[in-house]
Amino acid sequence: MRKTTLCEICEEESAVAKCRICGRWVCGKDFDASLGICNVCLSTLCQVCHERLAIGHCARCGRLVCRRDSVRVGLLRYCIDCARELGIVTM
Ligand SMILES: [Zn+2]
Ligand SMILES: [Zn+2]
Ligand SMILES: [Zn+2]
Ligand SMILES: [Zn+2]
Repeated sequence: MRKTTLCEICEEESAVAKCRICGRWVCGKDFDASLGICNVCLSTLCQVCHERLAIGHCARCGRLVCRRDSVRVGLLRYCIDCARELGIVTM
């Protein structure tokens, strides 16, 4: 039986690219060519660096942030930009 490679997200279109994060083969619609990642990873990616997977939201601006680009203050987490504006970090 011959198997065509279908997009692993929608399973409708044929896969054209491989996500560099999860390794899924996905179709053009489910792929962000500029970042080289699938839409699933895009929705879980840090919105500061677009490199690492996010671990939470910034309590101030709501962006998804990874560990490296965020600062935890008590129970809250701020992205590095908000942390700077709030004077939590001075970099
Ligand atoms: Zn697809
Ligand atoms: Zn992916
Ligand atoms: Zn990041
Ligand atoms: Zn923020």
